[in-house]
Amino acid sequence: MSYTLHPIGLISSPYQEKFGIPRQPALAPSAPVSLTLLPPYNQPDCVRGLEAFSHVWLTFVFHETLARGWQPLVRPPRLGGNNKVGVFASRATHRPNGLGLSLVELKSIDTQQGVTLHLAGADLLDGTPVLDIKPYIPFVEAKPDARGGFVDGPPPLLAVQWQPKARADLQAWQLAPPWLPGLIDEVLAQDPRPAYQDDPARVYGIRLAHCDVRFAVQGDTVQVLEIITPAQN
Ligand code: SAM
Repeated sequence: MSYTLHPIGLISSPYQEKFGIPRQPALAPSAPVSLTLLPPYNQPDCVRGLEAFSHVWLTFVFHETLARGWQPLVRPPRLGGNNKVGVFASRATHRPNGLGLSLVELKSIDTQQGVTLHLAGADLLDGTPVLDIKPYIPFVEAKPDARGGFVDGPPPLLAVQWQPKARADLQAWQLAPPWLPGLIDEVLAQDPRPAYQDDPARVYGIRLAHCDVRFAVQGDTVQVLEIITPAQN
């Protein structure tokens, strides 16, 4: 048996590469993400009534990693990158069928030209193809007493310190989006480094909102070193 699926829409997001995207939705609520529906789904009738829901489930394709296939065992970052669990005990991107599932906040729906959903806190790469949208139904789906396995609780957060150069870089960019400093704080606090890397001298870079955000991690603190903005390129 095989099935052919077609995207119903495409994601537009400040995350221009996989590195740095929070590992689950809601961890970086400042990320403004939108979902633009494709024809023939881009008609107001397809979303009539959806505005009454505060959150939606998105089913999507891990399109960036799909070609790399999957393995039965994976190493979740929350286990330090050493211990293995089965692919179906994980939220790994490399999985059979390459399908992702994210619960995101629905801020508003724009039906002026086609249909665009404005979302908050999505953990999705720019250009991600979305296969389906479903409203989140709290009385059925919220399970505050559920067991969370090896991800029982939010990840520990790092403190984020901005070097004067990084602040000046952003201030010099007149078109800097107002949400960008908050998003940088939220993303870096998650400690985006691979689980096995701990080199305080190493400088990392994340592509975020068309900027190159350079940072280093010393102990429990992230230093934001510089931000190469589109204005500097
Ligand atoms: N909440 C989803 C789930 O459980 O299916 C995603 C979990 S997965 C661990 C989250 C990671 O997926 C992000 O950190 C990002 O690196 C990656 N990701 C997001 N969009 C992607 C895409 N379109 N293709 C490949 N990887 C993607």
